[in-house]
Amino acid sequence: MSPLFMITLIFSVLNGLCCNPSQVSSNIIVEEEDYKEDNTNLDNSLKEDETDVSALIEKENKNLDNNLKEDETDVSTLIEKANKNLGQELNVPTVMYGDIAVPSGFENADPCTARGCKWVKSSDGNVYVPYIISNQYSSRERAIIERGLQSFTSSTCIRFRRRTRERDFVHIQSRGGCYSFVGRRGGGQVVSLDRRGCVYHQVVQHELLHALGFNHEQTRSDRDRHVRILYQNIIRGQEHNFNRINTNNLGTPYDYNSVMHYGRYAFSRNRQPTIVPIPNSNVPIGRATQMSRFDILRINRLYQCKRCS
Ligand SMILES: [Zn+2]
Repeated sequence: MSPLFMITLIFSVLNGLCCNPSQVSSNIIVEEEDYKEDNTNLDNSLKEDETDVSALIEKENKNLDNNLKEDETDVSTLIEKANKNLGQELNVPTVMYGDIAVPSGFENADPCTARGCKWVKSSDGNVYVPYIISNQYSSRERAIIERGLQSFTSSTCIRFRRRTRERDFVHIQSRGGCYSFVGRRGGGQVVSLDRRGCVYHQVVQHELLHALGFNHEQTRSDRDRHVRILYQNIIRGQEHNFNRINTNNLGTPYDYNSVMHYGRYAFSRNRQPTIVPIPNSNVPIGRATQMSRFDILRINRLYQCKRCS
């Protein structure tokens, strides 16, 4: 065997072990273009409307209804709907911050790294997160959940794999509502994906991101520079969902497209917005149907996934 052939062979094996960086970077480019395009459209539509006040008002009101309708598929709207009756069932942990389960004595969602709640990294560079999926689900629902679990594989070093006898694992089951603890809790920890309203790709990713240690995007330490919280429109008693947390933002920019970002009308008591982006209030927020490139980057930074480039 020639030395050149050996080197080529070793390189291809190493590449196979990595997280496929070419795929990651091409995704990034595509999404950047999408983002630019979104903003361009936004500017155009604003310009068209500037000349006609009544058209502007009419459009705004129409958009409001459209937005409300469209928002029915927002992660936070889905979760909020599914969690409406939460607290009425027994054996459900206290759920605060919309869908974050809080064990008693647990004061707030501190940055994960400070609590040592990250999942453990294996010597091969991957982070294996054992899971069990309850047999409550239909095969269709199970397929959606499995797809959500496996979606972490192509772009990060997180590997969800079926539990054999590991001590710590996530136990995915249909309880009352969609919720998860933040970070690894030790032992089996519930990730609830209620069959009635939580089995959607973006909700699966959202809850698993909590289990990996991430908080909601709009609770970030720097959020006040990017969104305004309209407390007057929030359902009374739900204001704590909008508390700011001293998060570790891992050097990533604030991300309206994060699958962890609430929608504009989250916890609204009057169909008026509760979260408005600044300075441009028309920028879409919380509409992610999957993890954004910054969600992925944050995972890779928090877990120090090896970059293969
Ligand atoms: Zn959440």
